[in-house]
Amino acid sequence: MLSAKKIQISGLVQGVGFRPFIYKQALKYSLNGWVENRNDGVLIQVEGSAENIEDFIKTIPTSAPTASYIKDIKTNNTERLNFTSFFIKKSENISNKITEISPDIAICTDCLKDLKEQKHRINYPFINCTNCGPRFSIIQDLPYDRAKTTMQKFKMCPICEKEYKDILDRRFHAQPVACNNCGPIYKLETKNFTSENLEEIIDICAELIDSGKIISIKGVGGFFMSCDALNQEAVSNLRKAKARDLKPFAVMCADIETAQEYAEISEDEKISLNSWRRPIVLLKTKKELAKSVCSNMDRTGIILPYMPFHYLLFEKLKSKIIVLTSGNISDNPIIIDDTEAKKFLFPISDALLSYNRDIFNRVDDSVEININKKLRVIRRSRGYVPNPIFLNFNCEGIFAAGAELVNTFCIGKQKQAVMSQHIGDIKNFKTYEFYEESVKRFKQMFRLNIDFAVYDLHPEYFSTKFAKELGVQELAVQHHHAHIASCMAEHGLDEKLIGVAMDGTGLGTDNKIWGGEFFICDYNNFERISHFDYIPIPGGDKATEEPWRTGLSYLYKYFGKDILNQDLDFLKNISEEKINIIISAIDNKLNCPESSSAGRLFDAVSAITNICTISGFHAEAPMRLEASIKSEISEKYDVEIGKIISFKKTLLQIIEDLKNKTSISEISVKFHNTVIFTILETANQIRNKTGLNKIVLSGGSFQNAYLLKNLENILANNKFIVYSHSKLPTNDGGIALGQLAIAAKFRNKTTK
Ligand code: ZN
Ligand code: ZN
Ligand code: FE
Repeated sequence: MLSAKKIQISGLVQGVGFRPFIYKQALKYSLNGWVENRNDGVLIQVEGSAENIEDFIKTIPTSAPTASYIKDIKTNNTERLNFTSFFIKKSENISNKITEISPDIAICTDCLKDLKEQKHRINYPFINCTNCGPRFSIIQDLPYDRAKTTMQKFKMCPICEKEYKDILDRRFHAQPVACNNCGPIYKLETKNFTSENLEEIIDICAELIDSGKIISIKGVGGFFMSCDALNQEAVSNLRKAKARDLKPFAVMCADIETAQEYAEISEDEKISLNSWRRPIVLLKTKKELAKSVCSNMDRTGIILPYMPFHYLLFEKLKSKIIVLTSGNISDNPIIIDDTEAKKFLFPISDALLSYNRDIFNRVDDSVEININKKLRVIRRSRGYVPNPIFLNFNCEGIFAAGAELVNTFCIGKQKQAVMSQHIGDIKNFKTYEFYEESVKRFKQMFRLNIDFAVYDLHPEYFSTKFAKELGVQELAVQHHHAHIASCMAEHGLDEKLIGVAMDGTGLGTDNKIWGGEFFICDYNNFERISHFDYIPIPGGDKATEEPWRTGLSYLYKYFGKDILNQDLDFLKNISEEKINIIISAIDNKLNCPESSSAGRLFDAVSAITNICTISGFHAEAPMRLEASIKSEISEKYDVEIGKIISFKKTLLQIIEDLKNKTSISEISVKFHNTVIFTILETANQIRNKTGLNKIVLSGGSFQNAYLLKNLENILANNKFIVYSHSKLPTNDGGIALGQLAIAAKFRNKTTK
């Protein structure tokens, strides 16, 4: 029986090879008609046997291109027009082109095969196709075609051009298509010679790494520094070369089997590791690498190869696991251009490997962690950006400036929010320049006309100042309200609910620093129901680097000078003079802002238990406190819960436990359980009063796997409906979406 149908597919179906895919499927099922890009997806008209049409529709979701995302498929019967072929209609009237820019995609299995079989691409390190290769990192403008990418300077050879133009070829309209005859090439420089011969380059790189040397390698979105992850000397040399902090290095494993040797990997984590987005996944360490790779943390950040070059290198390398850390100096953004690499990375490496295709948009590796069998993106960059987040309301023209420390910004296009790649700490001048430049580029790429700016309440954030200078209608949003709104927007929630923000720092409406907050809120308003007790933070930001200050301040607030006579190990390591300076600063209220931050509470306990008194990298103290948990028990400490939540009793009992030589692991578990109990009890009280049953968790402290896992479970057991972040960072990297959602609602309300 002959039939005709119109099929409407919404989601991310443009710029990912979707129309050629539909074309091929139509041919396979002998269907005639057409496919066309529309504002909200693609529209298809097919004619043919009813059975074939059914099969055609069924295979769309299961065999769609890698980077596509199908939100919805709607089908309608339509009149038969007796088409004699299937064709791709030229798109018209597309005003919203934002879904055309795909994130960068790791090399696909077909290309890996071609790498060994296709004559003109044998071992070609820039092989790619419609289903894989660089995208966002090389795109300069729309519409997405080669002339608007950094591939423009490479003229396709006749073979590549033929493939590019053949709709049945896997490289049809693959903009970065290239081969050994026509595409980009690598260049290796060492102190005494250079080479552009790939075979030679790979041999030398393998030899250098295997003999303990350091190489700077250009990746998809920036330069990386690399060495053998099992060579103690090489790793400490790399630490010395990077000269700044003790932040754990990520490592690249040759394959999943190697990764399984060094880390415990669940099925879900395997999927993350192998996904086309190819993020770094933070995994439970099983076998130790060279000592300073992970700085003795309990997790190892592992990534699998994602560029053809990585695979070619591992073919020759004896080492199956190498350090791959971003090529940057101090807190500057990852280096993307050759001149800078030559200037800053070459002097501290034994060799510099680059290639002659420019990186236009800087993109760091994304970072994920799996908590409670759920993927959690904690740095959203390569592979994710610029995929939009679908909202239920219009946000066109809104610019959300983000926070300051782990900045990302967000722009609104119709009902879609586009988050920027990870920008970093914009207090750093070079990072701020990267921020400004990226905003400019997003405006251009997405044809954004900014008519509304939303920013953090903190007047001194560089992002706030930047947004205020735009001179458009504006709105300031409290930091933790934005955190909760971000999680609400991620889950499409739009109602009054309980918001719990456990976070580092964010300015409150009372000019104090917040971060252990219980709200009743929606997008329009929030009411602060409860919060952690205020504690003076001696030295403000300085205290995040020196958690002992916060530890001392907590004890001093609750127990007075008496605490100095107690036999506490962590105080023994600090000079009496320093202690007296801090106490006098607290007494005289000198640079001691008051804070209700959960992050500071974790800092304090980490310091008091002498796990971490001086922090070598961001959030080291809470991370080490969590990592000290060796086995789970259910005991907890006492805590006073009310409008103001006081941990006085908790700290008193911790000190008793320390005196009784209770293990650090046990103290840490009991402390974590106390925080979990506090959140549950407070949520219960709010529910009893209001009947609200949905609870949204956000803020940097929820990167703590023990905390989030056990909290989610206990809340669910108590019949709460729990929402936490998954696709967006729970840290400040997710805040811009919340700002944007709040602004959109505010604007819709005020213009009604
Ligand atoms: Zn491919
Ligand atoms: Zn070619
Ligand atoms: Fe925050």
